[in-house]
Amino acid sequence: MRIDFNRPPFVGKETEYIRQAVESNRMICGDGPFTKKCSAWMKEKFHTREALLTTSCTHALEMAAYLARIQPGDEVIMPSYTFVSTADAFVLRGATCVFVDIHPETMNIDETKIEDAITEKTKAIVPVHYAGVSCAMDEIMAIAEKHHLKVIEDAAQGVNAWYKGRALGTIGDFGCYSFHETKNYSMGEGGALFFQNEEYLEKAEILREKGTNRSKFFRGQIDKYTWVDYGSSYLPSDMNAAYLWAQLEEAEKINQKRLSIWNFYHEELKPLADRGLIEQPFIPEYASHNAHMYYIKVKNLETRTKLLEELKQQGILSVFHYVPLHSSEAGRKFGRFHGEDIYTTRESERLMRLPMYYSLSLEEAAEVVKALYRFFLKSE
Ligand SMILES: *Cc1c(COP(=O)(O)O)cnc(C)c1O
Repeated sequence: MRIDFNRPPFVGKETEYIRQAVESNRMICGDGPFTKKCSAWMKEKFHTREALLTTSCTHALEMAAYLARIQPGDEVIMPSYTFVSTADAFVLRGATCVFVDIHPETMNIDETKIEDAITEKTKAIVPVHYAGVSCAMDEIMAIAEKHHLKVIEDAAQGVNAWYKGRALGTIGDFGCYSFHETKNYSMGEGGALFFQNEEYLEKAEILREKGTNRSKFFRGQIDKYTWVDYGSSYLPSDMNAAYLWAQLEEAEKINQKRLSIWNFYHEELKPLADRGLIEQPFIPEYASHNAHMYYIKVKNLETRTKLLEELKQQGILSVFHYVPLHSSEAGRKFGRFHGEDIYTTRESERLMRLPMYYSLSLEEAAEVVKALYRFFLKSE
């Protein structure tokens, strides 16, 4: 038996659409027909004013940091329990990361710890919707408004997940999605930048197109294009967008499949939680999640190491993450932890993710469950 931790989602039409991009459309650079379809679909489905496809979520975050005018010396508040990209984008602009603790039950930033971390240098708050479960956005938005801060949502894991009926990534000033192969919907490498204020559009398009006004040129708004501002290259190829389009067309099918696996794990593992052997994820009332991941928490690091090893011996690949950013080499250089680290380190050492992907069968998930029972009932 071998059960992978992740397999890239593939629903069927991806290769046909890539062939179309290459052979029929003869347009494989950015902003081609498939890119446009994906953007239009996201605007309609998630009710976002703007949705620009990007080469990654990391790049969407970089764009957001630039558009939010983050400058050297500025401070940005974020959780330490997150993927490095959350911090990278702001550090590139010369900002300092101010890490605050998380809620142990969702692993999301603890909104009650944010206000105390604000200084004169603070420019933005970056909530990360861990596992596609929303942060407490009303509270975060209220703090941001009170202190005139920008909110940049790292919704890499939160595609097709909701907060009180609003799509994650559409609540703050900017929202960033990932379409990496480990995420719910994929294009290999890719992402999207959302924003609701039309004023950012021109600068965002210029930034994404190497500092030129090429996007305007393609719309026929100007007769030649030139270098007009700061820029980089954040526009993905239409071949990648073709792969994504096949996934977005089947978004509900993918979502339902993931949710069925998530619910299966949740039901089947409940007896272990009832006996205090594991802890299960918690979904707050206000959140509709997208089954981005299923994790459990075990007693401590030692138990986790043993369990991961035992699963591996049985061909089941389960993983842990993250090493808190504030304890990493770069995190110490570019950031600081504000307040006490009560949960970040402790909880990160207990958490592990079970196999979860579109093509995982419930029979395979049942094997994972069985292996967990074997481990816990033996060690009890
Ligand atoms: C995956 C992920 C990213 C990075 O996404 P890429 O598209 O690979 O750049 C950023 N933040 C979080 C929380 C993620 O899970």
